Parts: sequence; structure tokens; C-alpha cells
Amino acid sequence: MQLKDKVAYITGSASGIGKEIAILFAQEGAKIIIADLNKEAADATAAELRATGAQAVGVAVDVTNEDQVNASVEEGAKAFGGIDILISNAGIQIVHPVEEFSFADWKKMLAIHLDGAFLTTKACLKHMYAQGRGGSVIYMGSVHSKEASLLKAPYVTAKHGLIGLAKTVAKEGAKHGVRANVICPGFVRTPLVEKQIPEQAKTLGISEEEVIKNVMLKETVDGEFTTTEDVARVALLFAGFPTNALTGQSLVVSHGWFMQ
Ligand code: NAD
Repeated sequence: MQLKDKVAYITGSASGIGKEIAILFAQEGAKIIIADLNKEAADATAAELRATGAQAVGVAVDVTNEDQVNASVEEGAKAFGGIDILISNAGIQIVHPVEEFSFADWKKMLAIHLDGAFLTTKACLKHMYAQGRGGSVIYMGSVHSKEASLLKAPYVTAKHGLIGLAKTVAKEGAKHGVRANVICPGFVRTPLVEKQIPEQAKTLGISEEEVIKNVMLKETVDGEFTTTEDVARVALLFAGFPTNALTGQSLVVSHGWFMQ
């Protein structure tokens, strides 16, 4: 029970990596706010957690909308008595070569990944600072926070940007006992990645098997996908860490695809 009675607001937690983090954190005693664009899926995920005896609530949010972010954080904080952990995880992927990327898609990507991180951070810090019991802000980066790949200009740009935000929040939050860190996963087979496999195959003119073997997993030490469980374990390490000793960091979990 590393997170007993901590309140965690987790964006994009009706699916994939965010959902796995919600499940693990609930097992560790946290009260969970499932914040997602897909309200139906958020409610269903919250109900799944409650069925295991955990406390969880689903809230609707588009992380690019300031009013919705503020309202959903307030709703969650009111339900459970504050906010101790933010996992800024909601994300999407759009792939094109730079010269074909529409400006609208570029802005959409930066809005979800960067505006969303900023808005949720601002709304959650207000509670963490006022509560006076510290806190943990965790951003879902990527190996693409450290490394580039073909076709992913705004994703790579935004994921690099999260490291700058985390370092700043780490410095500003220290006097309140608020830590900020970034998790940088390699490829994880969630709906976000399943969608990319045929898209990349088409754009690169290769088979889907080749996309997996020669693009996604080529640089790993063992040809394996990272799992949602692997990422959730790293989130627990950051969330449960007791002091400011572990702050302003980014940790890569990628089967050795990227080694620092
Ligand atoms: P996913 O598609 O399984 O889940 C993403 C969730 O985010 C969905 O529930 C979706 O409804 C929600 N969402 C999308 N836009 C939103 C918005 N504007 N407001 C609120 N919620 C929104 O994806 P995933 O693979 O679990 O990705 C989660 C995070 O992990 C993303 O930030 C992604 O960039 C990052 N990541 C994923 C991988 C991977 O290989 N899957 C690797 C590294 C990093």
C-alpha cells in the first residue's frame, strides 16, 4: 500500500497506459480520478475499479480546454479531498512527413500534449500547494522525449518539451514538496500504437510485420514491446517516492531502445 489514501488525477486513463496506472495505483490504496475525453469509457473504468473495492470516479475532460480541466480537477478534488498525484498522460499520434503536415494537425498535437500538460499541472498544483502535504506530478513522455523518428515532428517536439516543463515544475514545486518527473516508454501495444502500424506500413511502403520488426522494435535489446505494466511500475516509483531527491528526472523504459 505505497499510495494509501493518496488522490490521483490521471488523464487518458480510460485506455492503454493510463488505465494500467489507474489499476496499479488503486491496488496500492490510491483514490483514482479517471479523467478522459471518452466519458463513457471513463465511467466504465471507474466502475471496474470500484468493483475491486477501490475508490474511483470518472470525469469528462478535454485536456486542451481550460474550463473543462479546471472543472474536472475540482470535481475530483471535491469527491476525494484534494489532489496528491497528477499523471498527465492523455495523448494521440498523427504521422506525416513535415512537408505534408497540416498546420491544424501540428497545433492539435501540441495542444493535447503540451497545453494539456500545462493546464492539468496548473489546476493540480493549486491543490497540492494549498494542502501542504507535497505531491507528485508525472508526465507521460516517450523515447521520443530523447530521440526522433521519421514522420513524428509534433509528437517528438511535444515529448521533448515535457522534459522542460517537468524540470521547471521540479524547481518551483520543491519548497512545497512537489516533485515532477517524466516517464519515457518505448513502444507499447495500446490502441494508439495499433493504429500506427498500418499507417506507417502505408507511408513507408513496407509490410506491417516490417514496421514492428524493423521500425518499432529494431533498436531494442531483445525485440520486445514494453508493456503497460512496465510503465505503471515506473509511475509507482515516481508517485511513491518520499522526498525531493527524485525530481526533475526522466526515466526511459524501452527494452534498451534508448540508453542514456
Ligand atoms: P491510448 O490511445 O490507449 O489512450 C489514450 C487515452 O487518452 C484515451 O482513453 C483517449 O480517450 C484519451 N484522450 C485522447 N485525447 C484526449 C484529450 N484531448 N483529453 C482527454 N483525454 C484524451 O494511448 P496510450 O498508448 O495509452 O498513450 C498514453 C500516453 O502514453 C500518450 O501520451 C502517449 O503519447 C504515451 N506513450 C505511448 C506509447 C505507446 O507505445 N503506446 C509510448 C510512449 C508514450
